[in-house]
Formats: sequence, structure tokens, C-alpha cells
Amino acid sequence: MDYCYDYFFYCKPFVIPLQTCHGLWSERRGIIIQLRDQQGNIGKGEIAPLSWFGSETIEQATQFCSQLDTKFNPQIIDQIPNNLPCCQFAFESALVNLEKVANNSPITNLDFNLSSNYQIYLVNHPWNYSYLLPTGLAALPSIQTKVAQQYNTFKQKIGVQSFEQERSLIKELMSYLPTQGKLRLDANGGLNLETTKRWLEFAELENELEPKIELIEQPLPPEDFSTLLALSQQFKTAIALDESVANLTQLQSCYQQGWRGVFVLKAAIIGSPRRLAQWLQTHPIDALFSSVFETAIGRQNVLELAVKWGNPNRALGFGVNHWFQE
Ligand code: MG
Repeated sequence: MDYCYDYFFYCKPFVIPLQTCHGLWSERRGIIIQLRDQQGNIGKGEIAPLSWFGSETIEQATQFCSQLDTKFNPQIIDQIPNNLPCCQFAFESALVNLEKVANNSPITNLDFNLSSNYQIYLVNHPWNYSYLLPTGLAALPSIQTKVAQQYNTFKQKIGVQSFEQERSLIKELMSYLPTQGKLRLDANGGLNLETTKRWLEFAELENELEPKIELIEQPLPPEDFSTLLALSQQFKTAIALDESVANLTQLQSCYQQGWRGVFVLKAAIIGSPRRLAQWLQTHPIDALFSSVFETAIGRQNVLELAVKWGNPNRALGFGVNHWFQE
């Protein structure tokens, strides 16, 4: 059966450009896919590319979307190439959503207003969100406000300023954490070996008193995988792979090479959600699901995977709505 297909562009500016070691990011651009059946049921999916992570660019996704006929044969979905992982995610999600609507399947809306809810309850389990703090000194008032609002897991980017500057900021941030509060440090692959070891030693020492630094995310770039693997076996503080596991092939490869630390899964860019779920079923990993600043449409689809396959003891990397204007 053919469906009616359409797509729309969106562009959401960040309140403040997001500073990462890849530079400044000022707006989130993406594409919404819409499939409609003859009864008028609609299913949507989202293409939210993150090309510096290795996904397709918005231009490549646009090119793919624009060459498709408005009469859409769902078999096309299985033929979307692996170099268009965001398109795989969006089209497959749109079809699944359409089928759910058509079959009157119950849909749990997981897309709460994340800026005012620090956790969701599903199957009686509270899922916390990790709150992404602004870079630099602006993080200090921010963490105090959010601790007062019951958040207990925070994330801060590192690898932007000197180790000494960042360490003193992190120490101050840690002093505001509530009991059982946790801080994640994300380097986006921007550290060298020496600084990575300094951070791991710092975390080791701090965590001896109270385990406050939950993990260090991608301290070294993906090409340094064997060093990361050795460090993960050498230090008690968890290391999370993020940039290293941007798509399903890389995820499988890191697992096969022996990674048993944390895996950050940015499901919206990883590729086919069906193949991801199939693989996770036979490979129980310490999975932490994370946002790529997608809209509510993509977020709902990612959260469905997260509550099923994520480690329930790790906060979801979705406390990011405050980065956008309402
Ligand atoms: Mg990261």
C-alpha cells in the first residue's frame, strides 16, 4: 500500500550558541517527515542531523527527501543507505507511528515539558533527566537554581578552557550537588592523553569521598579507541563513548573490540531504530540515551527506545529544552 508523503523544514535558534570543542552552534535545523494513509492517519518522523558526529548533513538529507515521490512505497525505507542514518531513523519512526495510529495502539506520550519536569515515571520507575549546564561561570547560578528544582544529574562540557580553570569550576559545581547528585563531564573528544589522565585521577580522588562524578564522556577522539579501552580498564571512574558510537556499525565494532563501559546512544542519528533494538536485545550494554536537540517529534521516538533499552540507573541526556526559546 502506498502512502502520501510530505516533508517540512524547521529551524530553532539556541538561546545562547552552544560552545563545544567543535566551535559554536547557533541553531538546530532539521526536517519533519510525514506519511499519511488513505484513511487520513498520519505518522511523523524527524531528521535531526549532527554531521560533525558523522551523520549526513542537512543538505544530503534534503536531497534524499526531495527526490522521493509523493506517493510513498514503505519498502523504500529498507533501502535507505547507511550513510543516511538520520533519514533511516525518521522514515522508520514515521511508519511505525502511522501504523500505531492506524491500529489504535495505545501511545504513551513521553514528551513532557522537560524544562519544568526533571523526571518522568514509566513502569513505576522514575527516569531522571541530566541537565546540561551552560559553559563557563554561567554554570554556577544555573546549577543552584536547578538543584532547588530537584534535578540531581548535571552535565558540563570540558576541554574548552585549561584543565586548571575547568577543574576549579567543576569543584565548585560539585559543592552545589545534592546528596546522591551526580556530575557528568563531556569532553567531546577534545582532550589529549595527559589531560584525560589528569581528569580521571581527579575524579578518582573526588569519588573516594562520595561518588559525585558519574562519568567522563569521550575524553579522547574516536581514533584513540584502544587508549580509551585501556584507560577504562585502568580507572574506576566510568568512561562513556559518544562520538565513537555515532552509528550502529561503530556501536557494534566498539562492543566487539571489548568496550564494556558506558555507551551514549544518540538514537536520532544512529540509524534504523528496528535494527538498533534487535542488536540491543542480544547485547545488554550500559546504555545512556541522549538528545541531539531534536524537536518533540524525534524526542518521543528516542524516549520510546530509551525507556526500553536504557540503563534505568542513568539519567537520560534530555535536560536540554532550556537551550531553546519557548
Ligand atoms: Mg557527548
